Amino acid sequence: MQIDHDAIIVGAGGAGLWAALELAKAGVNAAVLTKLYPTRSHTGAAQGGVCAALGNQEEDHWEWHMYDTIKGGDYLVDQDAAEVLAREAIETVIELEHMGLPFNRTPDGRIDQRRFGGHTRNFGEGPVKRACFAADRTGHMILQTLYQQCIKLGVKFYDEYHVIDLLSEGGDLGEGGRAAGVVAYRIADGEIHTFRSKAVMIATGGFGRMFRITSNAWSLTGDGVALAYRHGIPMQDMEFYQFHPTGIAGIGILLSEAARGEGGILLNGKNEQFMKRYAPSMVDLAPRDIVSRAIYLEIKAGLGAGPAKDYVYLDVRHLGRAVIEEKLPDITDFARVYLGVEPITELVPIQPTAHYAMGGIPTDINSRVLRDEKSTVVPGLYAAGECACVSVHGANRLGTNSLVDLLVFGRRAGRQMAADVTGIAMPDLPDDAEAGVRAEIEAIRNSKGGESFAKVRTELADVMMDNVGVYREESLLLAAQAKVRELRERYARITVADKGMVFNTELLETRELGYLLDCAETTVEAALARKESRGGHAREDFPDRDDVNFLTHSLAFRTGDLPALRYKPVTITKFQPKPRTY
Ligand SMILES: Cc1cc2nc3c(=O)[nH]c(=O)nc-3n(C[C@H](O)[C@H](O)[C@H](O)COP(=O)(O)OP(=O)(O)OC[C@H]3O[C@@H](n4cnc5c(N)ncnc54)[C@H](O)[C@@H]3O)c2cc1C
Repeated sequence: MQIDHDAIIVGAGGAGLWAALELAKAGVNAAVLTKLYPTRSHTGAAQGGVCAALGNQEEDHWEWHMYDTIKGGDYLVDQDAAEVLAREAIETVIELEHMGLPFNRTPDGRIDQRRFGGHTRNFGEGPVKRACFAADRTGHMILQTLYQQCIKLGVKFYDEYHVIDLLSEGGDLGEGGRAAGVVAYRIADGEIHTFRSKAVMIATGGFGRMFRITSNAWSLTGDGVALAYRHGIPMQDMEFYQFHPTGIAGIGILLSEAARGEGGILLNGKNEQFMKRYAPSMVDLAPRDIVSRAIYLEIKAGLGAGPAKDYVYLDVRHLGRAVIEEKLPDITDFARVYLGVEPITELVPIQPTAHYAMGGIPTDINSRVLRDEKSTVVPGLYAAGECACVSVHGANRLGTNSLVDLLVFGRRAGRQMAADVTGIAMPDLPDDAEAGVRAEIEAIRNSKGGESFAKVRTELADVMMDNVGVYREESLLLAAQAKVRELRERYARITVADKGMVFNTELLETRELGYLLDCAETTVEAALARKESRGGHAREDFPDRDDVNFLTHSLAFRTGDLPALRYKPVTITKFQPKPRTY
């Protein structure tokens, strides 16, 4: 069946929903396709806050926010994009407030703000209160608010439609073709639908599921990034993956940085506040890459806690019951439920958890997808949110900067699409536009190779965690490269037990595993080639940052064999790279 809309958005997280709102306001016939029910998108799991230099409690300026974002990203940030982010953060947060988002308030009724890692006053002098929040459920409130507005404006949703391919007209997307729609698999009955449109936005979120210990939802498998890649769009800066310092030990469920923003501290097995040694000025509020590495080094030095000395502690006991219950209720519950620990009186075991993809689909500051190192725009294709790389996070994202990225660049995507679709004709699609992907799905359904989906997925998550984690080095990366290649071969032989059409999650999870393999392969390749340490990419064999050779974005292109790497320069406007200390 073919369905026509002037614009299609794939993904109903914060980025997709805000874009949908803009399209609805502009009167464009747009639709959102989502494999999850919209309010189950991972944006709803975001806890700590969304930053904007409102200056409600302390002096603050967007220039300070811009600087922190660039330094936080270890100077791999495109500074024109960081300027847009820091400036428009302010108006988008206010707009959200006007849509009805129930932010925590100061006693005089303004939006309350708290501290967060790497956010400073006056270009690095010390922590500043910049994160706006609704307890520790900020993402939940953003998602609900945007969804309600979409419903109010009559946005068309296709819930539980799993997008399995992107369509183009006049050549493939990487070869000058124009985006022309998507193919989607309706989860309820396995029916395949073709959606034709003048504009397609990818807003499919991250791919943390390629690691064993992760804060990411089960659904975060890099679908949009991998589909674009399969059609010739490179993956940018894939070697930069963020490990958040405070995942629940052994499980990875996140305990927000808000705990430290409110005054919580980290302790090693000897009860020492070890961050004083690593970041004398920002201490526990140093950026995440620095704190995660510090935890790893403490553990390596035998200073970890617990029977195997393989974790450290988060201590919030001194904050008192009132602060914990008012500002950190969910994460304290997580500690109770998953660990049986009472944070009001006990230390909480934590360890770094795979959290956020700095890399993804290359875009410009208007969320238009770029297909090469010359920044050639792909007509009709847009991306925003965690799947995109604009790049405001560079080599390491600051806490609360992702939610604001969704708002700012989701809004820009919607506005750009609304402008671009007016006055142009619907693309032409051949009758059998979905034939190729239909055959791929049937091949999975009918494969008799005998390989186990669960085994391949577990082995992938293990090798990525153990060899491509917080610290990397050549021999580990080469072993990961060989392993991913082996898993890719075995992937082709996976046999699914469920051959049915109704809610065949096994089939779709197998498809998703293919996307994770694509993301893992480019991550390993880009990590091998980057012989320096910068932000979230720490090489034990190349411990220093090397601006002479590596102040550049990597672009990984698909080939018949290993991904091919090319590079493009970083945009530097106001802040020259400096050594990064906190
Ligand atoms: C536990 C946790 C806490 C966090 N806390 C914070 C925080 O406090 N502050 C902050 O700034 N950031 C935080 N982050 C990061 C931030 O929440 C995410 O980066 C952001 O929400 C991603 O939003 P998104 O719109 O890009 O995608 P998501 O919200 O992940 O949504 C993805 C959407 O794509 C759809 N989709 C995916 N694949 C397909 C497909 N094949 N077909 C159809 N639909 C598809 C899904 O159904 C979903 O609707 C947190 C992340 C986690 C995991």
